Amino acid sequence: MFSKILIANRGEIALRVIRACRELGIQTVAVHSTADTDAMHVRMADESICIGPPSGTLSYLNVPNIISACEITGAEAVHPGYGFLSENAQFVQVLEDHDIKFIGPTAEHIRIMGDKITAKDTMKKLGVPCVPGSDGGVPTIEEAFKVSDAMGYPVIVKATAGGGGRGMKLAKTREDLEEAFFSARSESKAAFGNDEVYIEKYLTLPRHIEVQVFGDGKGRAVHLGERDCSLQRRHQKVFEEAPGPAIDAGTRARIGKICADAVAGINYAGAGTVEFLYENGEFFFIEMNTRLQVEHPVTEAIFGVDLVKQQIRVAAGEEMAFRQEDLIIKGHAIEVRVNAEKLPNFTPCPGKIKTFHAPGGLGVRMDSALYDGYTIPPHYDSLIAKLIVTGTTRQAALARLRRALGELIVEGVDTTLPLFDALLDEPDIQSGDYDIHWLEKWLDAQSEA
Ligand code: ADP
Repeated sequence: MFSKILIANRGEIALRVIRACRELGIQTVAVHSTADTDAMHVRMADESICIGPPSGTLSYLNVPNIISACEITGAEAVHPGYGFLSENAQFVQVLEDHDIKFIGPTAEHIRIMGDKITAKDTMKKLGVPCVPGSDGGVPTIEEAFKVSDAMGYPVIVKATAGGGGRGMKLAKTREDLEEAFFSARSESKAAFGNDEVYIEKYLTLPRHIEVQVFGDGKGRAVHLGERDCSLQRRHQKVFEEAPGPAIDAGTRARIGKICADAVAGINYAGAGTVEFLYENGEFFFIEMNTRLQVEHPVTEAIFGVDLVKQQIRVAAGEEMAFRQEDLIIKGHAIEVRVNAEKLPNFTPCPGKIKTFHAPGGLGVRMDSALYDGYTIPPHYDSLIAKLIVTGTTRQAALARLRRALGELIVEGVDTTLPLFDALLDEPDIQSGDYDIHWLEKWLDAQSEA
């Protein structure tokens, strides 16, 4: 086992990893920008080291400085959290060259899944059902028309390098295609330095269902059921739950096995998420994330496992702690993402926290790096807290969420908290009857009212 791990991240996810390390008796090193000197992850780690100015590009994405921080502190492994360098194959390669272990899959697996066209092709060959679409990249507008006319509209043009909902454009009809094609390309070029796009059938009423997988890197893998993350705004998740309200045990076992077998087939190591759109009882693969997800706590809650500890164990060469038959779902869990944003337009709202009070009690987990008097810097993502509740049933979890939201106090900045109180009043949320467009439609209706 490692004796010291460096966490190449900030905020709640850095704390999450520090907590796992502490329980395993592993020393921790926090890295931080000059804007994060007073951040909670810096206070909580055993050691900390400044790696650059506020801009993420110059600090949390600064590979040479992170390598130097490992060398200065003697850290033997790096946990990347999510975002920043977590899906950067080149970073993994550089770590390997310096004999530092990356807590995650191999550079090759990150590269394969990071390119969505290659990912789809790989998964298709491994027996995973995919969204119908172009066979690989679509280099010209003539080709785009050929593929889309044959498939029928609506279609969605997607960047192979895409992520975070960027580089994705909908063409409802043939008339929209040219604009969608060129704007997806230019957005992708600007954001990712790559303008390759592909085309998929646009599914009109799907749910976003993702399967948590875990591999030992030696050909063995399990699944830990699914999460329903259909409640999204601008393709960004805001409310996630497990198990999925629309998925029964038989369906779960079937798609779970397909995913576990697929990742076992490539000797995948550590945690991964296979994302699908689910419509009319059918699953369609869209992408795989080769890292821990923001919403991993709902899976931890219903399976009673610590995914971060398992990631660390597997990276250290130990055996995976569970077999498929050990993984049994107990209860229902929901996570809501609290952002420092002003409603109704979700405008980022950094600033000083006057009061922070976390809810507690049975079945409540709060993953947050806030504290009284903390100033949220303007340079990073606006996620400030994740509230996760567990109940014996979905109804119990919903009631607990309402109770916990009533206890949670964040004063000093605007947050997205009022959104969740309002959502809990909606019959569709209470019954679990929603798809990926539900939230956008609801928000539009609210702003018109
Ligand atoms: P990103 O990597 O940018 O998050 P994804 O491929 O995971 O992109 O897609 C994000 C979201 O975009 C999905 O959860 C879904 O809401 C929507 N989406 C993606 N592909 C399709 C499709 N073929 N049809 C309908 N919606 C889609």
